[in-house]
Amino acid sequence: MGAKYVFITGGVMSGIGKGVVSASTGLLIKSRGYKTTIVKVDPYLNVDAGTMNPYAHGEVFVTEDGGETDLDLGHYERFLGENLSKNNNITTGKVYLRVIEKERKGAYLGKTVQIIPHVTDEIKEELSYIAKDTGADVVIVEIGGTVGDIEGLPFLEAARQMYVELGSSSVVFVHVAWAPVLSTTGEQKTKPVQHSVQELRRIGIQPTALVVRSPRPLESESRQKIALFANLSPSAVFSDHDVDNIYEIPLLLESQGYGSQLIERLGLQDREPDLGGWKEFVDKLKGLSKPLKIAMVGKYTRLRDSYISIVEALKHAGVYVGVKPDLVWIESTDVEEGKINVNDVLSTVDGAVILPGFGKRGAEGKIKAIRYLRENKIPTLGICFGLQLSVVEFARDVVGLEGANSTEIDPHTPYPVVDLLPWQRDVEELGGTMRLGASPINLVKGTTIYSLYGRDTIYERHRHRYEVNPKYVDKLVEHGLIISAWSPKGLVEAIELPRNEHPFFLGTQSHPEFKSRPLQPSPPYVGLLKAALT
Ligand code: GLN
Repeated sequence: MGAKYVFITGGVMSGIGKGVVSASTGLLIKSRGYKTTIVKVDPYLNVDAGTMNPYAHGEVFVTEDGGETDLDLGHYERFLGENLSKNNNITTGKVYLRVIEKERKGAYLGKTVQIIPHVTDEIKEELSYIAKDTGADVVIVEIGGTVGDIEGLPFLEAARQMYVELGSSSVVFVHVAWAPVLSTTGEQKTKPVQHSVQELRRIGIQPTALVVRSPRPLESESRQKIALFANLSPSAVFSDHDVDNIYEIPLLLESQGYGSQLIERLGLQDREPDLGGWKEFVDKLKGLSKPLKIAMVGKYTRLRDSYISIVEALKHAGVYVGVKPDLVWIESTDVEEGKINVNDVLSTVDGAVILPGFGKRGAEGKIKAIRYLRENKIPTLGICFGLQLSVVEFARDVVGLEGANSTEIDPHTPYPVVDLLPWQRDVEELGGTMRLGASPINLVKGTTIYSLYGRDTIYERHRHRYEVNPKYVDKLVEHGLIISAWSPKGLVEAIELPRNEHPFFLGTQSHPEFKSRPLQPSPPYVGLLKAALT
């Protein structure tokens, strides 16, 4: 039997949580014992998300195999509880690049290369490759953007063709749209949903089910109206109203029969879903009452999605430790410009995360925060740039190397304690050339990080270009810095301060948050919260 496909489209506007609906759909199908994978289609022309500013697109999620992907892949991994590949993120840029490369090689010799059939064929091939490669029974495909966008058309057209080719029990369409509630009258409006379904039908796609996002549960009258206009039974219209946290959404949809309905429409046998662990996690999350103030020091703090995996990792660790992280966002550029007194803010927190980042702006603000956190013994976790700037701070203040810096911030620093290593110096293209993806990390026995993982070797994901300069390692160590993890090549992977000097001061060059899952929290985040609690 070939794979079955669930296409998930969006209507009315973006940002309404289609990624979470896709991830929830994946969980509900997987929990019935079917091998499931989820693909995100991003209709933009970038080949991958790696070159995009977090303010434009939120976090860049890094996969185990080093793909720089859309943040929705993070939701998929967290909900499915498994690693996905860079193949699970298809962009228009990737598809066009492949078609153009084929054209140059003469693969279409004699033909006029066109969107239909050449681009749509490429999309279909890509999807069936993923189905084969993963051995999935069900492939869920989230089409980014909103129905009606010019960029999305080739993907919708490919989906329509697959429906015709594979049949109605192999391809289903879930449409996620927004029903606003008017603030003046409190009325729930269905017209935008109706319009977006019409737009979908205009391109030849009849949705199998509708998931309606709204601030309030879908009223019976709204459900009837939407069903009528969408050519559906009211039982195929599901309410996806605002809830406290995204982990409740699969349960909300399941309680309305969404999972069983999709499975039946796909011609598969319905089974009792195994959601016990998930329910337990959600109950614990809802029941958390002990708040812990955690400072989040970064420079993209005005768009919280920039650090979504870290925020989620703190939630997972919070449930494990039994505390509710209450995040205190500190914009490091504001610290630098003297708009906030960082010491005052930090004096009120229980712990801090020095967030990852790039470039000069905001770096001195982070360094200032690190100094306070180190001197005042506040539990601190530095991620990637956070580790690098902790090394800079230590070099300046403890080792006494005045003007020490990362060459990313000051190319002329007298003490380049963080620098490009030879293999990064000649890199000219910025896309996909950082140190990316999971690689082995050897932990040093007796250190904090070792006690957290309890293993000699771990695999965490990377996304960075600069490294702690090996020439300065001895000096840093002489002055008390502990290098607690190494790459097999001898690069610094983690630093910490001795436990008799600081309760918890850990920096990781990797990003452990990418592998944090509701039921498998990430050890460094658990360590931070445990330390912050005491
Ligand atoms: N800018 C730093 C580097 O490229 C850190 C990157 C990060 O924090 N992800 O090495």
